[in-house]
Formats: sequence, C-alpha cells, structure tokens
Amino acid sequence: MIQVIKNDITKISVDAIVNAANSSLMGGGGVDGAIHRAGGNAILEDCRKIIARQGSCKTGEAVITTAGKLPANYVIHTVGPVWNGGNKNEKEKLADCYKNSLKLAVENNCKSVAFPSISTGVYRFPKDVAAQIAVKTVSEFLSKHNEIEKVIFVCFDDENEILINKELNKI
Ligand code: ADP
Repeated sequence: MIQVIKNDITKISVDAIVNAANSSLMGGGGVDGAIHRAGGNAILEDCRKIIARQGSCKTGEAVITTAGKLPANYVIHTVGPVWNGGNKNEKEKLADCYKNSLKLAVENNCKSVAFPSISTGVYRFPKDVAAQIAVKTVSEFLSKHNEIEKVIFVCFDDENEILINKELNKI
C-alpha cells in the first residue's frame, strides 16, 4: 500500500523513516537537520560509527541508524543526487536511493517506511521528474517484495503532494 500525506516526517510513526542525507552523514539543513534535531544525538553517534567503518556514504547508497527520540524505530539515511542538468545519471541515482533504502528496510524487518521527497530541496531535482521516479521505483519494489506493507510519501509542500498524487493515479 502506498499513501501520501503532507506532514513533517519527524512526526511519523513507522518502522523506518528515510532521511535525505549528505555523504558526510553529519547532518545539514532541510529534512536532514529536522531529523537530527528531533531525534537527538544518538542518531549522529550511529552515523559517526558508520563513517568510521566504511567512510562516506556515496550518492544512491543507504545506511541505517537508530531513530533516537523519534517515534520511528530506525532512520535510513540515503544520499540523493544533486541535479546537474539531468545527464549525470541523476535519475538512476535517485532510483537507487529508493531501492537501496527499501532493501535495507527489508533486511531490518521493517514493514512500514516513510520517505521525504529526496533531492527536491537544496539538491534542486525537478519535482515532477523526482515524483515520477519515486512512485515508479517504490511501486516496482513493492510488487516484488511483500515484506513491506506500507510506504508513505511524506510531502512538506503542496506542490510535491500534488505531483506524487498525480503519479499514483497513473498506476
Ligand atoms: P535534498 O538535499 O535531498 O534536496 P532537502 O532537505 O533540502 O534535501 O529537501 C528534500 C525535501 O524534503 C524537500 O522537498 C523539502 O521540502 C522536504 N522537507 C524539508 N523538511 C522536511 C520535514 N521536516 N519533513 C518532510 N520533508 C521535509
């Protein structure tokens, strides 16, 4: 099942929320800053351990940490692509973010996952193209993996909510 809501992702009670992180995993602005602020230092501590073990998190990849004080159980941090005109594999990398996050959710027995609109903030991905990729990638994944029962697209603005709903109406 796929749902869309307009809300702050830090308020969502699911097994895992996804963070649109950057490759340092050290927090930042936008949704990343909101998650670290609301979840507390435990998230950053886990991120530091991951960085010490594997180095930075590459674009399209995902890692999982505690959700600290958040209502979710886990935060899955994925690094979205910066939009650079569209010919730098941005679309494939954005699809990788959704796929790798869901894979990690399955590996950690998560049945419900909430996504923000990855890369549509400071990373400047066109919102319409990002919505197409998000909906297509998630619905394809769910058709192959029945372990995940619910995915929620958590939009922060009306435009993303409308665009995601438009894509969902096509499937
Ligand atoms: P990116 O660097 O991947 O573009 P941003 O955090 O700048 O990440 O933006 C990604 C999306 O997350 C944007 O659409 C932004 O409006 C949205 N966003 C920002 N804060 C929150 C929040 N607290 N909950 C859900 N979405 C948020």
